[in-house]
Amino acid sequence: MIKVNENFLKLKSSYLFSEISKRVSGFQQANPDKPMIRMGIGDVTRALPKACTEAFHKAVDEMGVDSSFKGYGPEKGYGFLREKIAKYDFQDRNADIEPDEIFVSDGAKCDTGNFQEILSEDITVAVPDPVYPVYVDTNVMAGRTGVNKEGRYEGLVYLDCVESNNFIPALPQKHVDLIYLCFPNNPTGTVATKEELKKWVDYARQEKALILYDAAYESFISDPDIPHSIFEIEGAKEVAVEFRSFSKNAGFTGTRCAFTVVPKSCMINDSEGNSHSLHALWNRRQSTKFNGVSYPVQRAAEAVYSDQGRQQIKELIGSYMDNATIIRDQMSKLGYTCTGGQNAPYIWINCKKDSWEFFDTLLNKAGVVSTPGAGFGKCGEGYIRLSAFNSKENVEKAMSQIAQSLS
Ligand code: PLP
Repeated sequence: MIKVNENFLKLKSSYLFSEISKRVSGFQQANPDKPMIRMGIGDVTRALPKACTEAFHKAVDEMGVDSSFKGYGPEKGYGFLREKIAKYDFQDRNADIEPDEIFVSDGAKCDTGNFQEILSEDITVAVPDPVYPVYVDTNVMAGRTGVNKEGRYEGLVYLDCVESNNFIPALPQKHVDLIYLCFPNNPTGTVATKEELKKWVDYARQEKALILYDAAYESFISDPDIPHSIFEIEGAKEVAVEFRSFSKNAGFTGTRCAFTVVPKSCMINDSEGNSHSLHALWNRRQSTKFNGVSYPVQRAAEAVYSDQGRQQIKELIGSYMDNATIIRDQMSKLGYTCTGGQNAPYIWINCKKDSWEFFDTLLNKAGVVSTPGAGFGKCGEGYIRLSAFNSKENVEKAMSQIAQSLS
């Protein structure tokens, strides 16, 4: 008899987004003529940069001619892309990463979700709270947790990110083997300084732990003192893996291209204490289960690093960050404490009440859709997340409607 993997039955249903759509549809039915502005989503709204679409078109044309046609590509991604990534994203920031340590993929969601597969089932896993749910759910699926009790899975170590620690988690009180960190953070928009990251790298070295570092929003950092990569921290190459994506910097959410850096110096033990290369294991996993990103998409991603591409991306990110400033300023003016929105496209707002209640107020009185913080974990209760991914016109309209409805 076919049987289900019962770990999947432990998963809490995707309550957050289904509940948001239920409430949004209710609002639309009751107010068919009222406009509604979505400020909750994490998807980008602006088109791909011209440099990327030009490279994309050119590569599609190459695929239509026998002499330049490409079939299966190199498993880790084309050298032309990995070389640009290594130079511009790492070596230019004094992070000593080689093209050969980079694995091009179709998304940071898959990579952050899949990476745990090559780690033992009986490790202790620490996740931030609030959290990007992929880190939690994939460990539940893998059987590393017990059941969900009052919003938390038994067996996971939750790292509280709250106002009193500036939403930067403290080191765990007890030993953990695997740590997920995300900076700039989704949903709180916070960033970590070099000193803060150094503490985590030192902890991981001392405890022989591994850090999975999600830097999907790295390009939104404008403060020159904030590290863009964990590999800017001395010693990180022995204890960390980093995830990056073209989704948010270049609008590739629908185009799909990302990459993961697994340094060759990162080693992992088996139960008998023998040491293995994490890079070789991930390579083995990827070459068995993944067949690469299409050639035109990798050419489009390469164009992100051209002079024209870099200029266009600067402008694109600048426009989202102008929105973030408008949101942050307006919510602060209305008396709400805001975090994020300075080196990240998310603004995390202390709504001084139940997050679903505030969600309803914004929806019903201002016609604005937010994301209730409670959906990201226990520590998200009392907060909402607003996203800067929108047009300036919509953001200004939304903020003026919020101001009118709350004052
Ligand atoms: N990591 C974080 C923290 C995210 O918020 C997201 C998307 O919202 C992703 C990863 C997914 O990135 P990708 O589009 O490359 O799968």
